[in-house]
Amino acid sequence: MPAPPFTPFLGARIAVVGLGRAGLPAALRLSEWGAEVEAWDDGEAQRRAAAAAGLTLRDPSEGRFRADALLLSPGIAHLLPRAHPAADAARAAGAPILSDVEFLYRAVLAAQSRARFVGVTGTNGKSTTTALIHHLLTGAGREAEVGGNLGPPALSLNILGSEGVYTLEMSSYMLERIATLRFNVAVMLNLSADHLDRHGDMAGYAAAKARIFARQSRGDVTVLGQDDAMTAAMAAGLAARIVPISGLTPQPGGVWAEGHVLRDDDGALCDLRDARALPGSHNAQNAAAAVASCRVLGLARDEIAAGLMTFAGLPHRLERVAQTRGVVFVNDSKATNADSAARALAAYDRVVWIAGGEAKEGGVDSLVPLFPRIARAFLIGRDAPVLARTLAAHGVPHEIAGTLDAAVPAAAAAAFGGAAPVVLLSPACASWDQFTGFDARGDRFRDLARAIATTNGRAA
Ligand code: ADP
Repeated sequence: MPAPPFTPFLGARIAVVGLGRAGLPAALRLSEWGAEVEAWDDGEAQRRAAAAAGLTLRDPSEGRFRADALLLSPGIAHLLPRAHPAADAARAAGAPILSDVEFLYRAVLAAQSRARFVGVTGTNGKSTTTALIHHLLTGAGREAEVGGNLGPPALSLNILGSEGVYTLEMSSYMLERIATLRFNVAVMLNLSADHLDRHGDMAGYAAAKARIFARQSRGDVTVLGQDDAMTAAMAAGLAARIVPISGLTPQPGGVWAEGHVLRDDDGALCDLRDARALPGSHNAQNAAAAVASCRVLGLARDEIAAGLMTFAGLPHRLERVAQTRGVVFVNDSKATNADSAARALAAYDRVVWIAGGEAKEGGVDSLVPLFPRIARAFLIGRDAPVLARTLAAHGVPHEIAGTLDAAVPAAAAAAFGGAAPVVLLSPACASWDQFTGFDARGDRFRDLARAIATTNGRAA
């Protein structure tokens, strides 16, 4: 006899608003799982795609709000800077506003699976840490799924058995919209000012992030960054067992990096210089968090050490894309502000730097202390002259190349000539003036660098 269909949401009425990357698969999955779904998007193209996929369209802010819950896409505000009308309607009707991970959690419980949930948040390093935890788990042969803000949306993931582990990247927007989800392992990496338009102020942002700890109890674990005061202070009042982590200082009872060596109380785990996709002390923090999480999940030290060596990293984040004639080409196109570019420059002793695009407020002024690491700079994009002024004021050799297509061969020639062993694209600027996004900019850099490596021999 075939198994009965899995319908954990039979009888539930769910309004799904925002039918993009996560919303459309969510609406379809919830329908498949028995819910009565009303789908809506303000964009006509999205509505058309949803209708073509067989969904029922209805704007939940028109007329009476009839659903039991609103699944609101993370990109849509429910409060600040201005609440979407669907959020106002749900609130007025007393219906909860939820994110897709909440529904995944409920479905897993309904399937009577005791699969564990790891939630990863913080201002920076979420994607890297999430991907690394998943890599370590799968490398050790564990049944695992990864998603959330990174990769596949939560409601596209499979329902795992009781030995399984979900590693979910949780943005502050998603964390504001969970009601029953409890993380067995909650990872809080770091906090710095971000997204304040949505959260009002730093306290509001930190409060949203702190929801990663919601409902945790003594049997659960909080992996807590110690490298900034605000994150470390979150330890007060937490119910779960706390495992401290740091990329900089010893953490008895936790995991930390000392120089290049990753350690816990039992000794050295690995030399991070051998983990090629994890350069820099910021990645040491990410690695420490991943190791702490995987120890809690039962992985052995040697399984973890092996996995750290084979982690390929994520595209566009200090991604080594080519190597030739003693020069490594590094794609850090995700660095769309000076803060991120600072991490990249700090990770290498000497670089030929490619930067520029649409500069953020302050340009690259905050990078001045790192200028001694720049042998030469090649500038691109709209605000190249702005960056050039700062570099000139500090005597850094530079030229305006204009485009990435011009900058990469020029930077390669400088590096081959002995200027530095690394060509680093870490733009410190948004890409919109010349590209469709940071990923298109990084893809172009990768293509150009690989073409040079192919011509010169030994692509990596
Ligand atoms: P997120 O998902 O939180 O945006 P990513 O892992 O995608 O983080 O990394 C984005 C950028 O943030 C990286 O290119 C790097 O410059 C910086 N970064 C990564 N990890 C950290 C960290 N632990 N602390 C500070 N900055 C970091």
